[in-house]
Amino acid sequence: MSYGERELDIRIAEDRLAERLDDGRMHILRADVPLRDMVPLAESDLKYTIVLFAKCAACGTTWFYGLCIRGRPAYKPVEAGAEERWPWSSVPERERWAR
Ligand SMILES: [Zn+2]
Repeated sequence: MSYGERELDIRIAEDRLAERLDDGRMHILRADVPLRDMVPLAESDLKYTIVLFAKCAACGTTWFYGLCIRGRPAYKPVEAGAEERWPWSSVPERERWAR
């Protein structure tokens, strides 16, 4: 499945998350790159998974948002502290994928 076919799913999840981050309902705990840079990086095929962990200000729930070269985007609640256990890997230099 190409990124084009998944564009809708991703845009919906991304917009929902962006709205919550912008209005302060959620804040980022840790992320590979800023939210709006995730799709360009995924499309570059330079990094297999691109993830972002955010926390809900109201209830403290940790949310995981992840894009993968293959497979569907994931947007789901996870255990507190999941961002500390994630196997973070380096991000390719921005000039190679940013648009
Ligand atoms: Zn909440």
